Amino acid sequence: MFLAHISLLLQPIVLLSWLTSPTLAYTALSDHFLKLVPSGGDDFDIDHGKLLAPILIPRVPGTPGQVAAQEHFVNFFRSELPSWSIEWSNSTGKTPVTGDREIPFQNLLFKREPPWVQKGQSNLLTLVAHYDSKITPTGFIGATDSAVPCAILMHVARSIDRFVTQMHDEMSALGEGGTVPMDMGVQILLLDGEEAFLQWTETDSLYGARALAEHWESSQHPATSFYKNPLDQISMFVLLDLLGSANPTVPSPFLPTHWAYRAMANIEQRMRQLNLLESSPKRPFLPDAEKQVSSFGRGFVEDDHIPFMRRGVPILHLIATPFPTVWHTMNDDGAHLDMPTVRDWSRIVTAFALEWLDMMEVEPKDEAAARM
Ligand SMILES: [Zn+2]
Repeated sequence: MFLAHISLLLQPIVLLSWLTSPTLAYTALSDHFLKLVPSGGDDFDIDHGKLLAPILIPRVPGTPGQVAAQEHFVNFFRSELPSWSIEWSNSTGKTPVTGDREIPFQNLLFKREPPWVQKGQSNLLTLVAHYDSKITPTGFIGATDSAVPCAILMHVARSIDRFVTQMHDEMSALGEGGTVPMDMGVQILLLDGEEAFLQWTETDSLYGARALAEHWESSQHPATSFYKNPLDQISMFVLLDLLGSANPTVPSPFLPTHWAYRAMANIEQRMRQLNLLESSPKRPFLPDAEKQVSSFGRGFVEDDHIPFMRRGVPILHLIATPFPTVWHTMNDDGAHLDMPTVRDWSRIVTAFALEWLDMMEVEPKDEAAARM
């Protein structure tokens, strides 16, 4: 990540995407449904937790740790979420510290679309984190940066899966679908090569994200498709980064997507009121719900969303700012995580995804059958 200032060039694009952003008319989750949203519990344990422990290792591109992390993600989706498609988006590149060697950057894309859609027909809630870790200091883990966000997204996928299945089955039975609001799916992008190898520059950072955004821009769907390319299918690019330390503050940087930020902040507030969250921060994780239009400035944090934002994709950037004190130090490890905060984020993001996908349509009625 890198703190930067928005360039004038970006403004017209941002404004345009604001004016054309879809007005989603989803129903808020009921209190009953919010209470059922699972936290992931012991699966986030730093020593033995099924989701997180295996990726609390150095994950530098071109090293065995990169491969181990990839295997962890792929095995999880293959064994637990077989309905999700798995796709690799591979590129290679040279870095300022690895000489002539071509370093592999391998994004992993997991997707669940309605079964009836043709190519380029679904709009996709897109949940994103980077799984690579920084090459220095030697042995750096990057627990908040971004092992925890990756584990949270795995938890979101498995928590929403049965509702997605039910929704698709019911819609198929009723012969529904075929319209933009109805053809909703979800994809999870675990990106590689976010970190700079030497020093953050345009070319030494965001290796995986830059390759993917470029590739998608040139991947035209058939002329009859509603969406012209995979970038166009992204209904919201929700990027998680630097999450897992206590007392995070995640601001709302972008006016065009502030409405989506507000939706998530509202979920956090409701979950706190219902005593569903474990942490007791001094202020909400998402404190900017009431931010005034005139307060949106030009400062923002450079991260994996940049190559997508430049191409007009709507962005919800969930990054603790100021950065956690452990940022880019050896202390960004499992031991320095605040587990109540980690589990609370997993609840909030899961609830947001359920609400976005309009899952009140399939709200569990029976308490016994509802255990998620
Ligand atoms: Zn980093």
